[in-house]
Amino acid sequence: MLSSPVIQPGYLFSQHSLGTYRRCKRRFLLKYVDRQPWPCLEDDNPLPYRQHLERGRVFHHWLARRHVGIDMGPIVRAHEDLDLRRWWREVERFDWCALPSGLREAELPVVVPIGAYRLYARFDLLALDVGGDAVIVDWKTLERRPSQRTLRDRMQTRIYLYALIAAGRVLTGGTPIAPDQASMLYWFANFPEETATVSYSEAEYCRDGEMLEDLIKEVANLPRDAFAPTDDVRQCAHCNYATLCHREAATPGVASAAGDDAVDWLDEDVDFAIELEQVQELDY
Ligand code: SF4
Repeated sequence: MLSSPVIQPGYLFSQHSLGTYRRCKRRFLLKYVDRQPWPCLEDDNPLPYRQHLERGRVFHHWLARRHVGIDMGPIVRAHEDLDLRRWWREVERFDWCALPSGLREAELPVVVPIGAYRLYARFDLLALDVGGDAVIVDWKTLERRPSQRTLRDRMQTRIYLYALIAAGRVLTGGTPIAPDQASMLYWFANFPEETATVSYSEAEYCRDGEMLEDLIKEVANLPRDAFAPTDDVRQCAHCNYATLCHREAATPGVASAAGDDAVDWLDEDVDFAIELEQVQELDY
């Protein structure tokens, strides 16, 4: 007999948890339900992985401090990490003036309802003009730049733009944000000249709402036994749980074939480490 569902009403879903569920149900269960710690593959050198997590965390903190007006120059110059200093030099060249300036919020958490459940997003930066354009900026520290198609289709883009529109009136103080005036801008620390913009529309907003509701219903109705390991062993490349799942032997040679997806586990871990530090959550 199957066990009962593990997700209860009110559960907080995020871009990472839903994206993970789509790629591997077992990883979703281990990471987002059981919170099973497993810092890295046992036969991997943990240092580069930890360094990358730490760099991503520090870089986002620096940007958040810059946003509140702190002069980051002395702090950055005193830091010994060359990559971090290079990233900072690049982000200083970012065209801040091109962003809407009516309201700018950094590290902004947004929670919107989806049926009996909740959906969480955290914007690195939201820049908008009330009644005008609204841009979500996401700072990425990836070592590879995903394709435009991957960026457009990724769960983060779909959820962030959806949440922006759903929470629009609260964010602006009463004025809705029109979907066709919303966009998401990805900036890449290692590819600063290759920013990517994803625009939005009313039709996409409706489609994303239906997709998210269906997906969340599916997850919420699943019994524990049904969170099975993925059949696609490419997903196991770079997954921290490969040892736990006895998938180490399945991964050699498939890492490069996993392409953007392989990169994405690291991306997820960077953001997850930052999100865990959230001390305050605003409800919309
Ligand atoms: S190792 Fe593979 S099967 Fe196990 S959680 Fe990771 S992606 Fe899923």
